[in-house]
Amino acid sequence: MTGVASQASLAAQVVNAIHTTIGSGPVALHEPRFAGNEWLYLKECLDSTYVSSVGRFVDRFEAELVEYTGAKHAIAVVNGTAALHVALQLAGVERGDEVLIPALSFIATANAVMYCGAIPHFVDSEERTLGLDPAALRRHLELIAELRSGKCVNRDTGRVIRAVVPMHTFGHPVDITGVQSVAHDFSLVLVEDAAESLGSTIDGRHAGTIGVMGTLSFNGNKTVTTGGGGAILTNDPALARRARHLTTTAKVAHRWEFLHDEVGYNYRLPNLNAALGCAQLEQLPDFIEAKRRLFHRYRSAFSEIPQTRIVEEPRGCRSNYWLQALLLDDSAAAQRDEILEATNGAGFMTRPVWTLGHRLQHFSQCPRMDLSVAESLERRVINLPSSPHLVR
Ligand SMILES: *Cc1c(COP(=O)(O)O)cnc(C)c1O
Repeated sequence: MTGVASQASLAAQVVNAIHTTIGSGPVALHEPRFAGNEWLYLKECLDSTYVSSVGRFVDRFEAELVEYTGAKHAIAVVNGTAALHVALQLAGVERGDEVLIPALSFIATANAVMYCGAIPHFVDSEERTLGLDPAALRRHLELIAELRSGKCVNRDTGRVIRAVVPMHTFGHPVDITGVQSVAHDFSLVLVEDAAESLGSTIDGRHAGTIGVMGTLSFNGNKTVTTGGGGAILTNDPALARRARHLTTTAKVAHRWEFLHDEVGYNYRLPNLNAALGCAQLEQLPDFIEAKRRLFHRYRSAFSEIPQTRIVEEPRGCRSNYWLQALLLDDSAAAQRDEILEATNGAGFMTRPVWTLGHRLQHFSQCPRMDLSVAESLERRVINLPSSPHLVR
């Protein structure tokens, strides 16, 4: 190599590219922005005294989610993990079943499977979308699974594989039609973990509305926040009714009696949180515009560094660009931690991607396919500061 001494280190170049894009730190990875009617609606909510599981805002929040996503029904719940838990239960996931999920996801996806007494079965990702790879999944299932009286059975474990839960990573849509076709051929229920993808679309259809059910999250670090919150999306009226029932303690409507017809959950989103959500949804188009602007600015700054690229929305899809992701070339993967050190040291909060599910001790015995793409991505992804107000 020549010119090494005069050439700034890769880590220094990354710090410089971030600085060029967003100015000086300290800057958080993702901060919420409350620039709309938040105070107004929260006050209105407090004045009404309806702060808990009943009220105008929670009904309105659901109606606005329906309107925005095009789903026929939206059921607001306390967080995205609870939404996934109930969606999986309604998908028919039972104790001892297996559920196909990407190894590359936030822990909530695997936890929701565990809450059902089921077992995560880890699937590889594709580099193009960062999401579950349907072609690789199909090859894997052709090897290990067979249909027995309409059920997909894992020949290695003898367990039923009940559902598949792709996730739209950082807001970039997964190849959902590919996953849908595998789900169809192997008799799997398709539930989308759309926690990160409010505002993302595939051929104009909102993420989370293509599977039998989809789930959203409104945690403080997501594109819009209710503090904590989530929702189940579905086009199926019977599932919607069941979801609403299960998430409100399975209480049978009655003027005074406390009748419950099964074990339900206290998962209803409080009205107070929904008030915040209503104000946030009004700003969603602006947030997404700002995030797309930020993406273009990062892309142009990082185009100067050949060993890196900023992840872009897959063709035919529109991403909300929730979390900007820098992808290092193989040749630069060994410098990931050095880059994390330098950027965080400079006041730019950057993070590696989640530790892959199968590498967590308590999931290490779970079934899985070859995960080489996810493992490679784990070594090469760095998330960059992504708040919507970072660039004008
Ligand atoms: C945020 C998130 C969830 C849900 O998280 P909650 O904090 O429970 O709202 C689920 N899956 C993924 C991939 C997420 O990023």
